Amino acid sequence: MKITRAYACTAVTALAVSLSGAATTSATASPAPGQSAPAAGSTGPDQAALKRILDKLPDDWQQRRQDAMERAGIEESPFQRAVMSHLTQRLSKRQLNTLGIDPGDYECGETQLDAYIDSTLEDVDETTLLLLSMYGALDIPAYDAILHGTQGDAQHPLPSGSEQALTTTFNAASRFWDVRLNNVQLMGMDGEVLTDLNRSASTIEWMYDLGPADAVLMAEEIKELVEQDPALKDGAHPIFTMNAFAFSPEGESDPDIANQPPKMIFGSGIIDAMKALDLNKVGTKSILGHEMAHHVQYQDDLFDSPLTGPEATRRTELMADAFGTYFLVHKKGMGFNPTQTLKTEKAFYNVGDCSFDSDGHHGTPNQRQAASAWGAATVAYADNPMRALPSLTLAERFDDALPLIVKPDAPETVNEYRSLIQKQELVR
Ligand SMILES: [Zn+2]
Repeated sequence: MKITRAYACTAVTALAVSLSGAATTSATASPAPGQSAPAAGSTGPDQAALKRILDKLPDDWQQRRQDAMERAGIEESPFQRAVMSHLTQRLSKRQLNTLGIDPGDYECGETQLDAYIDSTLEDVDETTLLLLSMYGALDIPAYDAILHGTQGDAQHPLPSGSEQALTTTFNAASRFWDVRLNNVQLMGMDGEVLTDLNRSASTIEWMYDLGPADAVLMAEEIKELVEQDPALKDGAHPIFTMNAFAFSPEGESDPDIANQPPKMIFGSGIIDAMKALDLNKVGTKSILGHEMAHHVQYQDDLFDSPLTGPEATRRTELMADAFGTYFLVHKKGMGFNPTQTLKTEKAFYNVGDCSFDSDGHHGTPNQRQAASAWGAATVAYADNPMRALPSLTLAERFDDALPLIVKPDAPETVNEYRSLIQKQELVR
């Protein structure tokens, strides 16, 4: 996996839940005063609309989208999953069959991000969302940034209002670690690519492996769908950019992907969500610290371990939490107060956990909190507070602590880890 989506997954998880909650409500009750009913209502889009879109997609559209994700080195977009979760609540069995969807693939537990996500989607037309999702339109801004974005270009600006915070933290992280990070490009995602025919057609061409003429036809369909629903703001709706991830071309064979520089891509939708949850100040920097840790892992070859499947992913995700916190509280990093940092991170880890039983699982909120506390304790117990540990040494120590961090009753405070480190009880 060359793109990591731990934070995106968090947001999406909540999206899935909130949407399914919304679906239940609207299927059984009238809309609340002041709210308009979703256009599709409780019956979902009609069969004719689905057929119309399916006719325009290549026969093997699902396989092609899967292939695109593999060529870019990514998992199924969690946003796609979330929207599908939302929509599967409203589709009939027959419609689900037509689309080859198993609704069980999109179930998720309750999280605290629901209200925010609900509020962002309450005016969006259901059918439009379904059709856009079938076209893979929710993935286009991410692919567009990977394929066409360069740092500082006008089409991939950093989220408005957060430019300085992101750039400062990004630069500090680049300097902090002992691996080469100065080639990583920091940029935003652009949802409005969806209404820019030339740009979206070029991404669609790559995504579905289509000829230019067919790609333009699909781009036109998507543009029309986005423009017909004012709530989608010509693509500026946060659902299209609720994502932040590290991209690395390492090990990728698709030439369009392999020739890209490593990137740190930050969508404005995720910043909006962090602001709405009052986590923006430290939380956004924490996301950046986590994602930069993934770039350190690429450079240090830390993705390989004796672990496999979900446990292997959980290890690298928890390591990124630990490294990110280590950077945030270290005097040579951001120098943040550890208690405050951990408090924000705890709130953040708790807003949107979902135990996807997949390779993409990033650890429970408790495990993430434990990993972060370990990172802060490792700073606190350093011989020389002005010197950061070599990243490989930090990784070795993390691997020693991992069996404890993943225990159900793992300590979650800096002091507990500090005393364990002091007693040298974190060595396997
Ligand atoms: Zn991650």
